[in-house]
Amino acid sequence: MRAARALCSGLAALALAACGEAADAPSAADAGAPGVEVEHRALGTVAVGAEGAREAVTFDLPSDARAFALTLQTTPTALCLPAALEGGPGAPPVPAGWRARADDARRCADCPNPLVGRPGATTVLVPNGATSAGVGGGWWVDIACVDGETGAPTAAEVSVHLSVLRGEAPADAWLALPLVVAAPPSADHDRLQRAVDVAAETYAAAHIRFEPLHIVAHEGVRVVDDLDRDLPTVFADGAALPPGLPVFVVDRIGPPPAGPADAASLGAAGGIPGPVGLPGGPRSGIALALTPYDPSKPDPLGAVLAHELGHHLGLFHTSEPAGSPTDPLPDTADADGRNLMHWYVDATPGALSPHQIEVLRRSPWLTPTDPP
Ligand SMILES: [Zn+2]
Repeated sequence: MRAARALCSGLAALALAACGEAADAPSAADAGAPGVEVEHRALGTVAVGAEGAREAVTFDLPSDARAFALTLQTTPTALCLPAALEGGPGAPPVPAGWRARADDARRCADCPNPLVGRPGATTVLVPNGATSAGVGGGWWVDIACVDGETGAPTAAEVSVHLSVLRGEAPADAWLALPLVVAAPPSADHDRLQRAVDVAAETYAAAHIRFEPLHIVAHEGVRVVDDLDRDLPTVFADGAALPPGLPVFVVDRIGPPPAGPADAASLGAAGGIPGPVGLPGGPRSGIALALTPYDPSKPDPLGAVLAHELGHHLGLFHTSEPAGSPTDPLPDTADADGRNLMHWYVDATPGALSPHQIEVLRRSPWLTPTDPP
């Protein structure tokens, strides 16, 4: 039985923030397990020229680097993405020239590392396909920017952020995802807690658990009429929350349903994946709509939360309603409505495939933790 109101909106959105910090020295955070750590670097701000001009940024990764997330954060109206991303021991994850070939110059569906550009900030997780090869070595990214609405080349200031996962966590090791759920004090916190519990059960299958988990009272923007315009305003409050991946609870996402058969969006993630850290950034968060539901039917909220977390950690849909290209994983059948990342979200969360779990566990959001 499908829940009519559990349609997932995927993502979208416009940005509001431009970052301009200078390049920092690399910093490493000990993740609590020998040989495994996550390193965050600010690679500085680059000015990408108009008229289709590009700007390249280089970086080096240590030999034990297993995965990295690269974020290009920019201004509200600009959409900046990797026109090419090459380096390391394998084939280029994002080959030069893909934008000229692609049907949609903001989405490389057939890149070895599929990516979707978003106004405000675009993040790419490498690798996000079925490979366990390392990523150590020298890298360069070629950045191109277009207007978020028209798609015309535009000049933009882009701050470049890198998070590197070093070392290998055994498949049976537990990983911690710091989660901050920010909800109005008047919201139904019992319903919210049930949703978190449902999502936690899904992620426990991947040996990932929410830790620390904060459910905090937060009075912010309550209605997201327009994803591009409103989500960055919602996410801006992340700078005032405890550290972690913020989930902002709102009353509504998108226009009100026109009738009982009209599906409403219950969730939206900042990206695939979303930025790692960068609190308050225009794509730094997940929105979850605490809309009324029919109590005689299962509540889809937990499944939606689990699904949006999947996006934010790097998972694409296994299938799309229009049949457009989807994730590069070999064990996610397009028509499998029982998968968590099917475009239509059931009230009961779908399962994760082994390759999806591998991708999730490469997210620099996750750090080792003790077994439960
Ligand atoms: Zn989705």
